[in-house]
Amino acid sequence: MILSLSTSHTVLEMSESSQPAVIITTVMQEQQRPLRRKINTQSTPNFSAFFRTSSGHSGRFFNNLLQRTMAHRQRADIQLRSLLNEPEESLPTFIRRASDQLSNEKLSIEKVSKLLNTQPFIIERLVRILYLSTDNNKDIQTLSKSEVQKLTRILNSTIDVRALVFFLILDEAGDDYVTSNGLTQFYEKYLKYLKTFDENRLQEVIQVLLQKFHLDQKSQIDFEEFYSIVSKDSTLLESLSQFTVHPTWFIKSPSTPSGKENKLRQFFSNYYWQQKIYEQRTNKLTIDYIKDNLSRIILLLLYLLTNLALLIYVIIYRTIIIKSNVLVIFARIGGMLLNFNCALVIILMLKHTILFIRTHKFLRKLIPVDDHIDFHKVIGRIIAGLSILHTIAHIANFARLDDYSWVTYMFTTKPNIGWIHGFTPLSGVILCVILTIIVVCSMQWIRRGGHFQIFYWTHLLYLPFFVFLIIHAENFWKWIVGPLSLLLLEKLYSILKRYSSRSGRTYLHSVTIEQSNVISLNIYRPKNFNFKPGDYISINLPCVALYEFHPFTISTAPEETDYLRVHIQAVGNWTKQVYQRFKEMSKDDAEENQIKIYRADIHPEESIVDLQNIEQNHIQDADDDDDENESAITKSHVKLRKREPVFIKGPYSSCARYVFDCKHVVLIGGGIGITPYASILSSLMAQFRASYVVCKHCNGINYSSKGLVGNRRLKKVDFIWVNRDYKNFEWFLNLLRQFEQEQEYYLASNSNEKRFLDIHLYFTEIKHDENIGHVPLDLVTKIWAQIAGQDIFTSLKSKTHIGRPQWQDIFNELISGENASTANDVSIFFCGPSTMGKTIKNHCTKFRFRFYEEKF
Ligand SMILES: Cc1cc2nc3c(=O)[nH]c(=O)nc-3n(C[C@H](O)[C@H](O)[C@H](O)COP(=O)(O)OP(=O)(O)OC[C@H]3O[C@@H](n4cnc5c(N)ncnc54)[C@H](O)[C@@H]3O)c2cc1C
Repeated sequence: MILSLSTSHTVLEMSESSQPAVIITTVMQEQQRPLRRKINTQSTPNFSAFFRTSSGHSGRFFNNLLQRTMAHRQRADIQLRSLLNEPEESLPTFIRRASDQLSNEKLSIEKVSKLLNTQPFIIERLVRILYLSTDNNKDIQTLSKSEVQKLTRILNSTIDVRALVFFLILDEAGDDYVTSNGLTQFYEKYLKYLKTFDENRLQEVIQVLLQKFHLDQKSQIDFEEFYSIVSKDSTLLESLSQFTVHPTWFIKSPSTPSGKENKLRQFFSNYYWQQKIYEQRTNKLTIDYIKDNLSRIILLLLYLLTNLALLIYVIIYRTIIIKSNVLVIFARIGGMLLNFNCALVIILMLKHTILFIRTHKFLRKLIPVDDHIDFHKVIGRIIAGLSILHTIAHIANFARLDDYSWVTYMFTTKPNIGWIHGFTPLSGVILCVILTIIVVCSMQWIRRGGHFQIFYWTHLLYLPFFVFLIIHAENFWKWIVGPLSLLLLEKLYSILKRYSSRSGRTYLHSVTIEQSNVISLNIYRPKNFNFKPGDYISINLPCVALYEFHPFTISTAPEETDYLRVHIQAVGNWTKQVYQRFKEMSKDDAEENQIKIYRADIHPEESIVDLQNIEQNHIQDADDDDDENESAITKSHVKLRKREPVFIKGPYSSCARYVFDCKHVVLIGGGIGITPYASILSSLMAQFRASYVVCKHCNGINYSSKGLVGNRRLKKVDFIWVNRDYKNFEWFLNLLRQFEQEQEYYLASNSNEKRFLDIHLYFTEIKHDENIGHVPLDLVTKIWAQIAGQDIFTSLKSKTHIGRPQWQDIFNELISGENASTANDVSIFFCGPSTMGKTIKNHCTKFRFRFYEEKF
């Protein structure tokens, strides 16, 4: 059925022609009778019209005086009626302009609720409260443009009106009282709809609400009492002030544009993006950009100059000294540049050398080491391009020569070209085949399309590639000998470490099946395995796949000496197999393999496994020496053979290593991208604990003056976690809770110290769009925080924000205010979805913060 809203032109005309005195009487009569659920606008005088007719100052004065002396309910009633009767022409311009975007089609309740980020039943209630349906018994299913305008008008008016509207929404029975039953039913319905809200907590949360509105002692409250509770608390008033409809939501209105309109929009949006790209490009060349990227720019220039110098050398040598033809010159240019680039491509993947550079601040300032993978990819493409140039030039040259046929030149050793038995052309053909395989299998659609193993194994063809390259080109060995030797040494070292029980060969201790397809593996930490917070390892579980290694960030702190933990999200073949294997493992199998399996997906409290307190049956008894270890296993520790073996490669460093060298760090994690920060925060907490001092006299615990903050360059950590749903990360929240508590103790005993860690959690399942969407939630979270003293979602002291972070505001705050840092001191570390990374990076460029990203 279609809702009809009565506008009141006739009423307006009547009231304008009436005497003011008569209207005042009507006003006073209306004040005696609070607004009922169904408002009869036809019989309601138009107060706005009246106030307009009462001329000048005296009218306004009278109006103010009248309103001030009224009860809140009466005041709100009058204002609401007045708004309902307001003719379309007198709507504020911003509402009229915005609603011009709306089509004349009716919008369904469902659509309006989506636009306003709220639940349909709230819109239904709103409509019933505010509008007069032509047929009261039928359901209202659509809203017209003018009804939407009215809704916007009302929800953008005074706080009195918004409070009244919210009160009426809670007043389900429509008898002008909010009852304990009504409030309970409303919130039960509302919170159950939020997927992330833990249903088991529903009753305790509702109890707190009832307590706040005194409904635990009495059965009902009227608007005056409701208003007095809300208005005494500025934060609750702030909640109600968000009970508004932002006009921008019209722009998102789902009216489908015609084909012509669509093209026009597309044109303008393309134009907009072109402009944006142009602006970004011009911005990029500013002095600030050059300063911030000096080492990158110098290295790039060096790279280009080296290539240029080699090119000039070949041209001079081949044209003046050897006097070669053009095709040979092109082939030789390609060959020479290939020598250099093939050597460079290896250097960029020397993981241990990169670790060395990362650990030395001076070196890492000179060399932009974090770009090594991106640079490796670019050089790979350049190698492919140069190979094409080199090959085509040689093929064309062979076709020009007369001594042998083209096929003989290309596929036999007869022409005796090259330095090893005329093998150069044939090895060239083999090289082309190998390179094509490597290049095709490195493409994004293979690497990221669920075929990572194809990419991995075909990339190992680099070894035969270099061997054939040495045979193919006489001088190539001079270029490659250094980098290739280093690479082989690194590989050898890595293999030895991997199979040594002191550093790489170990066993699984326990497994926790977390919620939302995450599993954590607790692994015995080998005796000589040293790492830094934020490092990652590559792990191999032979029980799942014999030869596959997968990288995962260590989420425990280096201070935790007995165990290593990694959190794995089941996303692809291998990770899903790991997840399924342990999830489905029977009790008997787990016992036989000596693994403990915790089911935090069923019992969330099991997520909080304190490994320090777990029985200490460490493998170290058996691993003093590799041989001894073997014999120990075979002789006395027969049981150990049944353990689940794990092989570890690494640790490898990431940009997270720099955290402790910065002054003010902002750690931003999206979803599972918090794992590097879990290790950093655990490590910081361990350092807090390490600075405990027990008083000799009173046994009280204090912190050493040379504690954590005093000793470090790192003075401030802001941790920002953006996630859809917190229920899935109980293990991490537990860490944050412990840290918060530790910090509270620390601050209590060191009153001069400032807060070290600030936690900012963003919950994106519910969008924050400045619309009415989350007002009931905002209200309940604030009340919960006041009464329970913690956040409703996370039980942390820090408040959870609803919706996506506004980076501009967040970054502004970092450099403004009393304890602000300078832009130079702020370093942003990010790990999470790449689109989010791009947005943050753009903001960092604008604010001139250093930006580091760890890519999973
Ligand atoms: C430095 C680093 C740290 C990481 N830390 C974590 C972590 O703490 N927790 C977590 O859940 N995930 C982490 N990842 C991602 C994790 O390695 C992949 O999700 C996992 O390897 C996927 O394997 P799969 O066979 O299940 O999925 P697939 O479908 O085969 O792969 C999914 C994606 O994972 C990547 N990937 C797959 N295999 C490998 C491999 N052997 N080496 C590198 N990348 C691979 C590829 O980009 C691929 O597109 C990290 C990745 C990197 C590079």
